[in-house]
Amino acid sequence: MDDAPRLPEDDTAEEIQGLGCHAGAEQMKAAAIASGKKELLEGFEKDYPMGPHDQPQSMCPAFGSLRVGLRMRRVGTILSGSACCVYGLTFTSHFYGAKRTVGYVPFNSESLVTGKLYEDIREAVELMADPEKYDAIIMTSLCVPTASGVPLQMLPKEINGVRIVGIDVPGFGIPTHAEAKDVLSGAMLRYAREEATAGPVQAPRDGIEERPSVSLVGEMFPVDPMTIGAMLEPMGLAAGPVTPVREWRELYSALDCAAVAAIHPFYTASFREFERAGRPIVGSAPVGHDGTDEWLQAIGKTCNVAQDKIDAVRNTMLPAIRAALAATPIKGRITLSGYEGSELLVGRLLVESGADLRYVGTACPKTPYSAEDAEWLRSKGVYVQYRASLEQDLAAMHEFQPDLAIGTTPVVQKAKETSIPALYFTNLISARPLMGPAGAGSLAQVINGAIANKPRFDKMTAFFEGVGKSDTAGVWEDTPSDKSVAFRKKNAARNKINNAVDAGEAVGT
Ligand code: SF4
Repeated sequence: MDDAPRLPEDDTAEEIQGLGCHAGAEQMKAAAIASGKKELLEGFEKDYPMGPHDQPQSMCPAFGSLRVGLRMRRVGTILSGSACCVYGLTFTSHFYGAKRTVGYVPFNSESLVTGKLYEDIREAVELMADPEKYDAIIMTSLCVPTASGVPLQMLPKEINGVRIVGIDVPGFGIPTHAEAKDVLSGAMLRYAREEATAGPVQAPRDGIEERPSVSLVGEMFPVDPMTIGAMLEPMGLAAGPVTPVREWRELYSALDCAAVAAIHPFYTASFREFERAGRPIVGSAPVGHDGTDEWLQAIGKTCNVAQDKIDAVRNTMLPAIRAALAATPIKGRITLSGYEGSELLVGRLLVESGADLRYVGTACPKTPYSAEDAEWLRSKGVYVQYRASLEQDLAAMHEFQPDLAIGTTPVVQKAKETSIPALYFTNLISARPLMGPAGAGSLAQVINGAIANKPRFDKMTAFFEGVGKSDTAGVWEDTPSDKSVAFRKKNAARNKINNAVDAGEAVGT
């Protein structure tokens, strides 16, 4: 591969500087291809397939990888991108409690055109690579540096013993922030796998696990890995580290496993690294009665556990799960959507709790590791939509008129506007235990409580009836009239004149 940076032309640099996620994804893509990033974009297309539409409405994808890096012990983070992108990303990460400094390498059209940006990035990485403070530095290129072909692959792999991991995380190549977590996790697993292949690596903080372990992939509520560990123990297995990891050396123990549990199914680049290390991958997760039953059997078989041991743990866990589900029933019709990757698992739990679930939408793509969950849900009459758009989530809510809509912020907002009780998936649903007996009864209280709020919504809607909506909301002496069509026409005429003036044409008489 030709590693020499291909620099954008002057005009192109000016143009792509002004583009972003608000417009111009196609131009950015074209610029990235022209500047030598074709292979990278093809890799993203394969790992994170789009469709049925281009991209789910979501926050800047780079937030996913930024968060993963910021949560790691002794890992430094540097971003290079437009100032507004970096401002937004760092603001959001501090809003979520990052409490860490984020390095920033700015650029202008000159540094983009001359290749100086790459030199600036290299200098920043060198300045930050202090082995007293860091095990690794994550250098992330956002949209504009990626489109400009900044060659992160040319950065040294290591400086003063500090690992340098360069990743491109452009919004025009990676559909969701969930998948950006995989971009970083996959890059780190690859680095760690190569280190482990080359020689001895650092031992885990708590010592080496003697039992065969099951590596867990996907962010979970902290109780879930413990519950999984308790279910694995009678089979002579242990729960391994959770990817995304919290410390560099966990990468080695994650790779050193008997099997990988693809709890969140969209970590395609990470799964590839596990497969390269010769580790088998098991999809779905131990949620609810049927899910736990199938998962324990699949994990036991994959790890060569004797059938009587697998049966023994099933015989203990399944009645406990059944009892917890029966003790905490959920009554009501529900639609569910989210972008975390655990939507199908939550759906299974809701159905087994007795909910009349009609729709599950996930912003994540279809992969083999959620195929069983989708199949199971469909067999119960639930409509499953991968890469769901906001429009599809809203259409499902309008169609099924649920007693409760679980979804992303705009879905929840729309539901409340129409007096439908709603819960935010990320904060209120995915932040609960889901696995095994602990997960079986964990959703009922919050869901039944929300459904019971319906009369309050009806009361509020009746109270505010007639005060206006959207542009006409509020208290007015005269009801405002919608002038947007007239304004649009006026602006279109103005633009026509301006364009003609720019083109040196005669205007008017
Ligand atoms: S880096 Fe993120 S915020 Fe900036 S243009 Fe790209 S997708 Fe948008």
